[in-house]
Amino acid sequence: MSYVLVTGGAGYIGSHACKALRAAGYMPVTYDNLVTGWQDAVKFGPFEQGDLMDSARLDEVFAKYAPVAVMHFAALSQVGEAMSEPGRYWRNNVAGSLTLIEAAVAAGCLDFVFSSTCATYGEHDNVVLDEQTPQEPLNAYGASKRAVEDILRDFEAAYGLRKVIFRYFNVAGADPEAEVGEHHRPETHLIPVMLEAIDGTRPALTINGTDYDTPDGTCVRDYVHVCDLVDAHVLGLKWLKDGKGSQVFNLGTGKGFSVREVIEASRAVTNREVPHSEGPRRAGDATKLVSGSVRAIEDLGWQPTRSTLEQMIGDAWRWHQTGHYDK
Ligand code: UDP
Repeated sequence: MSYVLVTGGAGYIGSHACKALRAAGYMPVTYDNLVTGWQDAVKFGPFEQGDLMDSARLDEVFAKYAPVAVMHFAALSQVGEAMSEPGRYWRNNVAGSLTLIEAAVAAGCLDFVFSSTCATYGEHDNVVLDEQTPQEPLNAYGASKRAVEDILRDFEAAYGLRKVIFRYFNVAGADPEAEVGEHHRPETHLIPVMLEAIDGTRPALTINGTDYDTPDGTCVRDYVHVCDLVDAHVLGLKWLKDGKGSQVFNLGTGKGFSVREVIEASRAVTNREVPHSEGPRRAGDATKLVSGSVRAIEDLGWQPTRSTLEQMIGDAWRWHQTGHYDK
């Protein structure tokens, strides 16, 4: 069985990717420093603890498994934190990724799947974002991801690295079988925060700004089910192995929902009230981020089948009630 090195495999998206890779006949090797990941989430292949900045450790892991590709998820990913601690984002996400990319090239592992973000686009008034939209990030998180895209481009030119870059919109939901799910400490993402407010783990959800130029004044995001998202990664790996070359794909549904609409959907799905209050804007937030994913659908053959608010919230709620990790 071919190994795929999955950085961040103990995290939210990485753990779901490991499950999907295993189902597709690959053996995922999780490389994770467990700073934000959970060892309990590593269920589908070997675990190698290590940091992205540790090139000797990376060399050792590449030599041990000779992976056929890298899927690089490991990153810090909170917009608010990126605004207050930009250095951590540049160091971990950019210097860390550079160390990983150099190790991959040194090991001759040249197929690379990278998780980037719609936060690289920044603010573009009322347009559906496609892969050609200029990348003008509003925060250090988006800027750090754009920088890694640039590094990959240069390593392609110099060393023949082949890359599939996925720019995610808002990833939500959980494995419908609840083997893995979303678990951040602290939690800042809208849907899990809302579920904690519903079950009383936290007193209430605060809406970050109600004066945006949107129909109900709250930010609009495009939510995609984590299982649909990782399916695209398996297709991306196949794309590379079929020799189709480097490409960038947006992953979203093309439909945007406001924070208030997500609250209403959660109330309907869980049949519980969502305690919430209204607060000020969060620094670094774009008004609206909605994807055009025509390229992923037409070229990659991606079919997002689970990305309704109802299913994403339902699967997240089931996971929230049944499964959690300890270190
Ligand atoms: N949001 C909110 N209250 C929260 C968490 C998030 O109002 O407690 C808003 C956030 O400001 C953004 C949207 O919900 O407009 C989605 O935020 P999230 O952090 O989930 O993802 P992001 O868009 O930052 O990647």
